[in-house]
Amino acid sequence: MSDSQVRSVVVLGGGTAGWLSAAYLAAQAKYPLSITVIEAPDIPTVGVGEGTWPTMRATLAAIGIGESEFMLACDASFKQGSRFDRWCDGSPGDSYLHPFTAPPEGVTRELLGAWQQMGGAFAAAMTPQATVCAEALAPRQAGMPDFAGALNYAYHFDAGKFAAMLARMAVERFGVRHLSDRVVAVEGGDDGTIRALRTEHNGSIAGDLFLDCSGQAALLIGGHLGSGWIDRSDVCFNDRALAVQVPTPAGSAIASQTVGTAHRAGWIWDIALPERRGIGCVYASRFMDDGAARDVLLDYVAAQLPDADLAGLEPRCLAFPTGYRERLWQGNCIAIGQSAGFIEPLEASAIVMIELSLRALVENFPQRRETMPLLAERFNSLFHYRWERIVEFLKLHYVLSRRDEPYWHAHRDPQTIPPRLAALLQLWRDQPPSFWDFPHIDEVFPAASQQFVLYGMGHAPPAGLAPGAEAGARLAEVARKARVLASSLPVNRAYLDQLRAAAAAKEPA
Ligand SMILES: Cc1cc2nc3c(=O)[nH]c(=O)nc-3n(C[C@H](O)[C@H](O)[C@H](O)COP(=O)(O)OP(=O)(O)OC[C@H]3O[C@@H](n4cnc5c(N)ncnc54)[C@H](O)[C@@H]3O)c2cc1C
Repeated sequence: MSDSQVRSVVVLGGGTAGWLSAAYLAAQAKYPLSITVIEAPDIPTVGVGEGTWPTMRATLAAIGIGESEFMLACDASFKQGSRFDRWCDGSPGDSYLHPFTAPPEGVTRELLGAWQQMGGAFAAAMTPQATVCAEALAPRQAGMPDFAGALNYAYHFDAGKFAAMLARMAVERFGVRHLSDRVVAVEGGDDGTIRALRTEHNGSIAGDLFLDCSGQAALLIGGHLGSGWIDRSDVCFNDRALAVQVPTPAGSAIASQTVGTAHRAGWIWDIALPERRGIGCVYASRFMDDGAARDVLLDYVAAQLPDADLAGLEPRCLAFPTGYRERLWQGNCIAIGQSAGFIEPLEASAIVMIELSLRALVENFPQRRETMPLLAERFNSLFHYRWERIVEFLKLHYVLSRRDEPYWHAHRDPQTIPPRLAALLQLWRDQPPSFWDFPHIDEVFPAASQQFVLYGMGHAPPAGLAPGAEAGARLAEVARKARVLASSLPVNRAYLDQLRAAAAAKEPA
C-alpha cells in the first residue's frame, strides 16, 4: 500500500445525504474503508425529501436492503411519476402526467403522428402507466422479485425513517463509526486540503477524504474551502415552502404519483404515504408572503381532506437557496446533498443527484490522493452539466404555462429563460426532443421526460407528421397492456396491507 492511499472517509452530516453516502460507500467500496459519520444532535435535518426517482431501486439493491424491509421501515409507497394539475391554464380539469415509463420503442415522429390521429392525453397514449396511475394501482405484484415491476417506478417515503434505517444498516452491518457531535472547526493541510474536523466532544477527526453532507450550511465546501455559489434564482424563482403532514382516514386510497398543483405564485406538493399525506406549498417570496402561502396550503388541505384538523396543523417553514457550487469536488472534499446545490423540489431531483454523485464516486474512487485533481475535474464538469439540465427542465414546466398571474408572466419573460432552453424550444417546433438533445448515458431528465412535459402541456408537435402502420400498432399495444395491467395489478392500499400482514405473520408471537 502506498502512503498516499485513501483509507479513511469522514462524512459530515447525518441527513439523507450523509447516511446514504456512508451506507452506499461502505457497501460498494472496492476495498475496505474506515468511514465515520459526524452528525450534530442539535442541528435538525431537512426531513422533507419524500419523493424519489427510479434510481432508488438500484441504490437500495446496491446497499443490500430488501424491498419489503425498506418499504416497511420507511412507511414507503410507490411513486410512478408526477401529475401536474392546473399548470397549463389553471382551469379545474387542467392536468397531465409525467410518468416514469418511457414511450414505446419506435420513431418518435411516427409515434407522435399516431397519437395525433388517436387523440387524448399524450401520456395515456404512450404508456400503460397513465391508466395504472389513474386507478391508484401498484406497479408490481407482491410475488415478483425485489425491485422488479411491470412498469418503471420509485418510492415516496418518510425521510426521517429513511435516514434512520440507513444509519442502522451503516453502523450495524458495515461497521461505520457514528459520532453524535458538532463540528466546531476545520483543520486544513498545507496544500489547501482538509486534514481533520474538530468536534466539541470527540477531539479532531482526521481523514483522507471528506464528504460535505452538512446541508445548506455547506461547512466544508463553502465555509472552509470557499467554493462559490452559482445562483439560479433568476431562472427558478421559488425560495420557500410550508410543509405539513396530515393523517389520512384508515383504508383511504394511496395515489400512485406525486401530485403538484399550481397556484398563483408556485405550486403544492401532495405525497401519499400509507398513514398520512405530506403536503407542502412551494412559493416565491417575491410574489407571495408567508401568510398568503399558509392560506393557500390550508385551503388545499381542507379541499382534499375535509376531516383534517386544520387548527392542529403547524406548517413548517423552509427557506431554500437556488443554485449549486462552482466546485462540487475541491481538494479532498466532495459536496453531496444540499451542500452541493438545490433547485426547488418540483420533479424531486435532489435525492437522485445524491445517488448519481455516489455512483460517480464509487466508480471513480480516488484510491490515491494523486488522482484526486483529475477525478475532481471530471466530477465537476459532469455535475455542472447535470445541475444546468435540471434548471432547464424545471423551467420548462413554467415556460409552457399559459396561466395569467404576474408570477407566471415573469416566468415567461425571455430574460429569465436559459439560452439553451430557448434554443431547444425553437428546435422542438421542427423536431421532437431526442437523444441528440440529451446525449449523456445518465441524463437525469432524458428526451422522454421532456416529451411528457412538452406535449402534456400542449406544445404543438412538429407539422406534417406521418403515423406509419408500425407506430399505430405500438400504441394499440400500449392500450392493450393498460387493460391487462388494470385487471391484474393490486391497488396500492391492498399491496401495502398485504406487505404489513405478511411481516406481522412472521413476527414471533
Ligand atoms: C421543501 C423541500 C422539499 C423537498 N422535497 C424533495 C423531494 O421530494 N425529493 C427529493 O429528492 N428531494 C427533496 N428535497 C431535498 C432533500 O430534502 C435533500 O436534498 C435531502 O434531504 C438531503 O439533505 P442533506 O442530507 O444534504 O441535508 P440535511 O438534511 O440538512 O442534513 C444536514 C446534516 O448536517 C448536520 N450538520 C450541519 N452542521 C453540522 C455541524 N456543525 N456539525 C455536525 N453536523 C452538522 C446536521 O445535523 C444534519 O444531520 C426537498 C427539499 C426541500 C427544502
